[in-house]
Amino acid sequence: MISIPDAEPGYVYLVGAGPGDPALLTLRAAHLIKTADVILPDDLVSDEVLGIASPTAIVIPVGKRCGQPRITQAGIHDLMLEHASAGNSVIRLKSGDPLVFGRAAEEISFLREHSLPFEIVPGITAAFAVAATLQTPLTDRTRASKLILATAHHAAGKLSLTPRWSGAFPDEATLVIYMPGRDFEALARDLIASGIAPTTSCVAVSRASTPEEHIHITTLAELSSTNVGPAPVILLIGPSTQRPDHSGIAPRVPEPQQHRSS
Ligand code: SAH
Repeated sequence: MISIPDAEPGYVYLVGAGPGDPALLTLRAAHLIKTADVILPDDLVSDEVLGIASPTAIVIPVGKRCGQPRITQAGIHDLMLEHASAGNSVIRLKSGDPLVFGRAAEEISFLREHSLPFEIVPGITAAFAVAATLQTPLTDRTRASKLILATAHHAAGKLSLTPRWSGAFPDEATLVIYMPGRDFEALARDLIASGIAPTTSCVAVSRASTPEEHIHITTLAELSSTNVGPAPVILLIGPSTQRPDHSGIAPRVPEPQQHRSS
């Protein structure tokens, strides 16, 4: 029997909620979610994961959508401070892994500045969940010796011109793009301009691991916004996403709600 301590009073936990299925939570994350007093979840945290929280837990959604914050980052900090200082255990619950495109840097600095004790609990990031769904390795001994987790999007206001993509693409790599935006043709043009072959295999997965999951299997040159499902979307690009028979990825056994376009 594994003994996992409960969430402690006055502690803040930055916890990865994984891709959505509660079965993919770590044991530590699941136990903390069950025992915490206060939970501050992002928008992408699934209802199923929140469903394992204690009925007495206070759940305050703190998601931001499309760059239009309903609550500011400072507001999230204030909530962590207020509830932890009052002696509650607080979970800042983030989809996937809290340290992958999760704005964790600001929260870690804040917690340190205020001497609040905290712990970080990893989760399964979207790239890994999607790769498993697609049954495709992200690294491959013959075709992909590097794995790049990137975003095509920068924090609003940080740059006057937001590049959809900048930087060279190394050979034999798998590129995973989080927060790709909605203009997939422009993104593909930028990626091709940075040296990736237009024929490179590419998969866009929308709402992965939900009943609305949508998989668009294509090449970079043919990546089309009209065929990509609604947000959130993650893109996998590179030779390892293509099967040796050049037919593209074979997704897992289709479910009734699953739409595929290629
Ligand atoms: N910390 C998270 C990433 C947050 S950034 C993680 O480790 O997974 C949000 C981006 O993650 C989305 O824009 C999308 O690119 C990706 N993402 C998260 N959940 C997703 C899902 N269920 N399906 C597809 N993409 C997803």
